Order: sequence, then structure tokens, then C-alpha cells
Amino acid sequence: MSDLTRLTAVDIAKRISDGDVSAEEVTRAHLDRIAAVDGKVHAFLHVDADGAIAAAQAVDARRARGDELGPLAGVPVAVKDVLTTKNVPTTAGSKILEGWRPPYDSTVVERLRDAGTVILGKTNMDEFAMGSSTEYSAYGPTNNPWDLGRIPGGSGGGSAAAIAAYEAPLAIGTDTGGSIRQPGAVTGTVGSKPTYGGTSRYGLIAFSSSLDTPGPCARTVLDAALLHEVMAGHDWRDSTSIPQPVPPVVEAAKRGMTGDLTGVKLGLVTEFGTGEGAEPGVLAAFNDALAALTKLGAEIVEVSAPHFQYALPAYYLIAPSECSSNLARFDGVRYGLRVGDDGNRSLEEVMSLTREAGFGPEVKRRIMLGTYALSSGYYDAYYGQAQKVRTLITQDFNQAFEQVDVLVSPTTPFVAFPFGSRTSDPYQMYLADLFTIPTNLYGGPGISVPCGLSDGLPVGFQIMAPTMADDRMYRVAAALESAVGTLTPPSLEG
Ligand code: GLN
Repeated sequence: MSDLTRLTAVDIAKRISDGDVSAEEVTRAHLDRIAAVDGKVHAFLHVDADGAIAAAQAVDARRARGDELGPLAGVPVAVKDVLTTKNVPTTAGSKILEGWRPPYDSTVVERLRDAGTVILGKTNMDEFAMGSSTEYSAYGPTNNPWDLGRIPGGSGGGSAAAIAAYEAPLAIGTDTGGSIRQPGAVTGTVGSKPTYGGTSRYGLIAFSSSLDTPGPCARTVLDAALLHEVMAGHDWRDSTSIPQPVPPVVEAAKRGMTGDLTGVKLGLVTEFGTGEGAEPGVLAAFNDALAALTKLGAEIVEVSAPHFQYALPAYYLIAPSECSSNLARFDGVRYGLRVGDDGNRSLEEVMSLTREAGFGPEVKRRIMLGTYALSSGYYDAYYGQAQKVRTLITQDFNQAFEQVDVLVSPTTPFVAFPFGSRTSDPYQMYLADLFTIPTNLYGGPGISVPCGLSDGLPVGFQIMAPTMADDRMYRVAAALESAVGTLTPPSLEG
């Protein structure tokens, strides 16, 4: 029998529903793969083998009874450790949550279970989703399956590496400034950030609540679209969830797979080409992909988005401000770690000792930046100003989408970099999200699709669409995939 870990989610689901293979066999094959390679990759913080096998057996029992199975029933999924899973450890990559077992499932996880997917475990990430390399995980970094000495992107590097290493066919990530798309780009996988409010934040440990968006990671565009459809949709428990039907992303991906983009207008943002741009190898792969899309009938139009150049500074005021407020709840009283509670210390001292020991340096930097930006006397100059820039960026997007169907760019300026090469200068790390952050500030969807290699390392192509027009980007993404194919990393065996 062929190796079950190499199959797409679509093929796995079909084989299970046809009775060629059981969900339990599929799950065991992936658990074996994790046991064989995760020592090298370290994509997982927690593997829930018992829970996964039980979920797979439940799918097999339903099939035996003749029940209708959904499109992803029996397909294994890995979940970023920032989404709560009932009774299964959830750390957000932080020491401060070590040992915490949430009493409830996040909405996204609940929907995965309802769809009959099999949750394999929780994936590694930068602490509280702050970072672009997983080097800020309190539990050690994840290694990129393409080159174990390089970063897998971040913050959701574990989810991207897990699918690139064939440990899971699907994974869930979250994207606040690029944390699904940039890891997708540097691991040669597909990463999709839905419209903000299109997927529920209930049970997502908050970093920046006005930006945080759960989304799918997969090895093909169609697999990502199927996962998108299962996890998305209105949720009354999230006040910013959009009460509208999920855009028809699966249908759009299938349409794109026919390879016809006649009449589709792709917008190239003039300002992305100036200033601190992309590496030459990244640009070369991007331009080859553009040429391939033109052959499929797409038209390329230059559009101006003059405020995109201020997106990074605005993001680094808004996101830390919201983080400083959200992370105030980690006080040593309610969850996880508590330090210095010897009966002689005041509440404030215990909180201070707990936060000092429990948070890593990048999280502390963000809390301090955010507290400063929100403090009286500075609020208008920093946070208030950043919010105005956010409005201008939204206007840029709205104007651009009057001229074109989608915007395109490289996903990230550089390919996977070696460990340690960007940790000493925070700004160098922040640049990883230069092209992804505008979309988050606007709230629209964005997807990264592999478009080729630079020096043997994957390059990602980003497609951005108007809010609640996620289907448009899936169509273009699937068309691109039909033209350039998927990428296969070197073998991890031996
Ligand atoms: N790399 C960005 C940051 O560090 C984005 C993170 C994310 O999307 N969660 O904030």
C-alpha cells in the first residue's frame, strides 16, 4: 500500500469513505511518522495519540453504521497550540501556561471535531504568537524540513513544518500579521488567512484581538479550501464574527484548478517594489509566477497603495497595545505558573515574580511597547496615530479593489533564514511580515502558495482579496498551483 502520509486530505477522505482504508490506519500512519521524524523537526509540543485513535475509531464506527461522512471525516489535523483543546495541554508556546489543560474547546477545534477530523496534537509556535521564526517558543524552535538548520517561519512554524514533513496533511494556524502565510511560504506549503471575523476567535488565546484570525494550512489549495469551509462561519460567542455565509472557497478552488484566469485582474502594488524589498531570488520566482498567471489569461495592473509603507510601524503600535491589555490576565492567579507564593509575599509581588519568570524577552518587549503607546500623554501620538494609518491603509485597499480583483506580492521578502541570524535585532525579524501585515490591518483575506525555489528553498506567492471575497484568492491560488505544481522537501530519513 502507498504511504498514507503522502496523500492529500481529499484523497484520504475518499479512501476512507470508499472503505479502502480505515481512519484508524490513517491516524496510526501519521502517529508513526511523527514518532519517526519529529525528533528532528520538533513541530509538536504535545501529541494526543489516545485522543486521535479514539476519534478515528469513532469515524470508522460511523462508516460501519452507514452514516453520511463529511468531506474531511477521518483526516488528521494538527492544531497550533494557541487554540484551546478541552483537557489537552495548551501553552501558546509560553512557560506561563505550562501544565494548563483548558476546560473547553475553541470554536475552531469544536468544528474540526464535529466534521470528524482527527486532532493529532498541538504544534509549536513563537510565544503568544509573537515572532516570525519559532525561535521565541519557550520550548525550543521548530526546524524547517527543507533545511533543519533554518527557521520554519513563525509564529505558526510548527503547523507549517508538520505538514511539510508529512506528519499531518492539514493544520490550523492563526495569523495576526503573517503567522500563517509566512510559515507557509518558507516551508513550501499553502497558508491561508481568512477575512477577519470569517473564522471564530472564541478559545483563541488573544494576542491582538482586532487582528487575530485562525486559518488553514495544507499542502494543496483545495485541501486548504476544504479545511477553511469546515472551520469558518458565524459564531455567536465571538462578537466580531461576521453573520454571513462562508464564501464559496471550495467551489472557487475547483474552478481555479481548471487553469483559466481569463479576465481576472491582478494588482501589483507599486510601493512594494520600492524601499526595503524582497531578495533577488524571491523576486525572480515571483516574476516567473506572474508570467505563468498571465499565460492563464490573467491581466496585470499596477496599482498604488501609498500608505502600505506605514503598515509595519502602525502594526507595531496597534498589536503591542492590544497585547499589553490582553496579557494582563496572566497574573499567576488564574492559569498555569505561579512563582513566589510562600505566604509572606503580597499579591503584587507574586504577580510580578510570576510574569518575570513566565514571559520570554520578546513578549516582555511587546508588553512594554504597548503599555507605553497606550499611556496618557502618548496615546494620541502613538496608538491614535496608528489607528489613523490603519484607516488610510483600508482606503488604499478599497481603492485598489475598484481597479483589480486581487492584489499579489511575494509573501515574505526572504527565504527561510538560518537560526540566530535575526534574533539580535528585532526589526530584522519584524521585516519578515513586510508584505503580509497590510492585509491584517485592513481585515481582508490573504493566501500564500508555493511558487518555486530560490537557492533550493521555497518561495511563497501572496494573493490578497477584498473582505469576504476569500473565494477570489482561492481561485487564483489554485490556478497558480495548476501551473507551477507543488513542492516536495528533501527526505528526512537517513
Ligand atoms: N510576526 C508578526 C509578529 O511577530 C506576526 C505574528 C502573527 O501573525 N501572530 O507580531
